[in-house]
Amino acid sequence: MRLRDKVAIITGSSRGLGAAIAEAYAKEWADVVVTYNTSKDEAFKVAESVSSKLVVHLDVRDRETIKEAFKKSYETFGKIDILVNNAGINRPADFDKQTEEEWNEVIDVNLTGVFRCCQEVLPYISDGGKIINIGSLSGEYGGPRTPSYAVAKMGMMALTHNLARFLGPRNICVNTLSPGVIANEFTEKTMAPHVKEMAMSLLLIKRFATYDDMVGAAVFLASDESNYITAQTISVNGGAWVR
Ligand code: NDP
Repeated sequence: MRLRDKVAIITGSSRGLGAAIAEAYAKEWADVVVTYNTSKDEAFKVAESVSSKLVVHLDVRDRETIKEAFKKSYETFGKIDILVNNAGINRPADFDKQTEEEWNEVIDVNLTGVFRCCQEVLPYISDGGKIINIGSLSGEYGGPRTPSYAVAKMGMMALTHNLARFLGPRNICVNTLSPGVIANEFTEKTMAPHVKEMAMSLLLIKRFATYDDMVGAAVFLASDESNYITAQTISVNGGAWVR
């Protein structure tokens, strides 16, 4: 019951880590707004399993859908306490092969998308609320074969810090939760075998992460237990030791 009476909205909660965070928040009694961009059917399945009263379309590239999603959430629940900026994509390529189109696409979703959501939630988010941005180990060290992704995630960490400064007077905590490598579809699609091998060599705990490894920190950062933690990056990465 660590999130009892809290209302949380999670971008990209139709599947993957976002869906896992939705489940974890619901287990702690939060009201969860499930959002999707393209995976509508999956989003409704997640909503059923977390007994969500609201499923909304939210494309982080489209400010109107963001505005509408927050407005509907507020109209349904009367408040928003927690925003998790989880939606993300990757277009892996070596630096010299990354196209400008790929670069712009990743920056638009993973960085500008977070900027848009954070701006648009401001009129609705409760004082004492929480904003959790899902970063990445790549953003902490300029990860391999992911120039646009690493830059977007590192930019998100700076955004976290800047916004924490802005929202400190309202006691709103803004933090980055930075996963290492999660063993899921995203990783299968975006990491070549040799990159996975290299990533494994960085780990002190010799396995890739599960969603269960991630959601504890996501709950903690959303709960009152972390009311004095802001502008931080919490790395959940098996002790990745970056060289
Ligand atoms: P998935 O590919 O499994 O899920 C991505 C989610 O993002 C989907 O729900 C998708 O929605 C949503 N999404 C994509 N584009 C948009 C958009 N334009 N607007 C709104 N939602 C969008 O990825 P993961 O669950 O693995 O990743 C979640 C987050 O974790 C990302 O930010 C990622 O960068 C980060 N991360 C992941 C790691 C990993 O190893 N998997 C490691 C480190 C960080 P839909 O399907 O409805 O279109």
